Amino acid sequence: MALYELKQFPALWVTWLAKLMTDEIQCPWSVWFRTHYKYEKLNRDFDSAKWSASHRQLMDDRIAQLQAAEWVVSIEGENWFEIEGRQHPVKIAGKPDILAIGPDQIWVEDCKTGRKKNSDLYQVLLYMLLLPVSHPRCRGQQLQGRLVYPDGTIEIAAEQVDETFKGQFREAIAYLSSTIPARKVPSFQECRYCDISAQYCPERVEESVVARSEEHDLF
Ligand code: SF4
Repeated sequence: MALYELKQFPALWVTWLAKLMTDEIQCPWSVWFRTHYKYEKLNRDFDSAKWSASHRQLMDDRIAQLQAAEWVVSIEGENWFEIEGRQHPVKIAGKPDILAIGPDQIWVEDCKTGRKKNSDLYQVLLYMLLLPVSHPRCRGQQLQGRLVYPDGTIEIAAEQVDETFKGQFREAIAYLSSTIPARKVPSFQECRYCDISAQYCPERVEESVVARSEEHDLF
């Protein structure tokens, strides 16, 4: 691959958008760059095998509960969707963990094994917004949402996909789909978890700067 390549069409994942909309990503340039370019990712220290095993267990338990209650369940790849913007040239893709389909209700659920975050809620709200216009099983339906954690579930009412949320969504999409690069906010706290190397982002901060006690007498 060249140093980096412009994608044929800008494209992003719901998970990135959820983190940006909730300020869990504070360097918007990282999301803008991933949306517009293909690049070789840095391998971050993340135990994906351990994460996959605990996520799979939580999913399996939840699927068994739903099927015992006679919901029709579809999972992951079956739920994949992609939607192209009409006003903004960008595609958004997502792959919700679970769709539970009943005679007159559809729930979209996501299983989370880590600590609870605001982006978990936004991720499900984005699914509730986008699935009814992109997935054949959900087309035209009003969805309910649910977050499934190891210690319990949180329900998300359809009414939470309100005009305020839609406005935040449109604002984020306009920002990310623009050809004008987003603001870059380098910090050790975020750069150390970022998969964009210094080849592409020379401002990357590799070391934390701590003022030593001998450098001041303030306290
Ligand atoms: S390395 Fe740091 S500054 Fe560069 S894109 Fe990632 S978070 Fe932003």
